[in-house]
Amino acid sequence: MDNVYAIGDVVFIESDLYPKGYPQLANVAIDQSKNVAINFIRLVNNKQPPRFHYINKGSMTTVGRNKAVVDLAIPKLTFHGFFTWFIWMALHLFLLIGVKNRIVVFINRTYKYITRKQSLALLFLNINSVKN
Ligand SMILES: Cc1cc2nc3c(=O)[nH]c(=O)nc-3n(C[C@H](O)[C@H](O)[C@H](O)COP(=O)(O)OP(=O)(O)OC[C@H]3O[C@@H](n4cnc5c(N)ncnc54)[C@H](O)[C@@H]3O)c2cc1C
Repeated sequence: MDNVYAIGDVVFIESDLYPKGYPQLANVAIDQSKNVAINFIRLVNNKQPPRFHYINKGSMTTVGRNKAVVDLAIPKLTFHGFFTWFIWMALHLFLLIGVKNRIVVFINRTYKYITRKQSLALLFLNINSVKN
């Protein structure tokens, strides 16, 4: 369709580096949002929009309660441990939009960390209501 643009999880883009499409990650969606914004400006100015290329900066994940692993792609560096977990937490808060969100998430996570409460979100589907 002309003049319809999609970004994020709903998009499948094949590239040489990612023949099965880009991973469904927040980083990809964020980078695509910046790319589409630049493309809109270029289109308004009658310029060709450049093709999107994802640059993987790396991954990080938590392991257990107090540890995390960071695998940086540029520069190629891997580190882990308690300090890495601290970086993971700080970066997640920093990436949230808005001071209010950061404070709320910080309080929420601190509470869950201290009380060891696991949040499990389950969606219960009432089959009968679907049939009707
Ligand atoms: C459990 C879980 C953990 C994840 N962990 C990570 C992680 O650690 N790191 C990472 O990088 N990525 C992670 N992801 C993936 C990441 O969340 C997605 O890749 C990212 O959110 C995609 O962004 P998006 O804008 O494409 O879609 P979304 O963030 O899903 O945004 C789509 C928005 O559209 C809204 N919407 C849907 N339908 C309509 C409609 N009809 N009208 C109006 N609004 C509508 C939705 O409510 C939603 O707000 C995780 C995903 C899940 C489910």
